[in-house]
Amino acid sequence: MNIVKRRTNIKLVVNSSIERHPVPVLGVDYRVKIVYKNIKITELDVEEKTIKISLPNKYKKMSNTAILDLAIEKMYEQIANVEIERAMEKTRIMVGFAPEEFEIKDMKVLGKCEDNKIIINPKIVKYGRRIIDYVVLHQYCHLKYKTHCKAFYDLLKKYEPDYKYYDELLNRLEK
Ligand SMILES: [Zn+2]
Repeated sequence: MNIVKRRTNIKLVVNSSIERHPVPVLGVDYRVKIVYKNIKITELDVEEKTIKISLPNKYKKMSNTAILDLAIEKMYEQIANVEIERAMEKTRIMVGFAPEEFEIKDMKVLGKCEDNKIIINPKIVKYGRRIIDYVVLHQYCHLKYKTHCKAFYDLLKKYEPDYKYYDELLNRLEK
């Protein structure tokens, strides 16, 4: 009887990990794995196609779904800070003008242009760099022309001859 009881206890001690797949990052599908450790600050490891996020034990209180949602959202935000800045800078050099400011903000669409400001959704980093670059370029062109007029498309076409392909793709993605 005692032996059986001990075995049960051992099983309970094994730390369960939480996973989600696929989690797209820059157009590549990854597996995100959450583990809990006796640490103070979140750790992140990328190996092959697996992103391992180690969280301090205090997060164990949250539900598996909630913790995955939160960890993935934070991860997208971190990558977005780097990737969107890269795309903004690349586009600025290419077209020779820039917005007064840009913001990274969660919203329904992937990109938006308001007055002289460009707003990009952090979830855009799910997709590959060519899509990110296109969305940023599209918003840059809106700095010159607010509507999708002929002059707008002429400018867009100058820097991205395949703009129709990207527009159709984005129409489907944003639904
Ligand atoms: Zn537009």
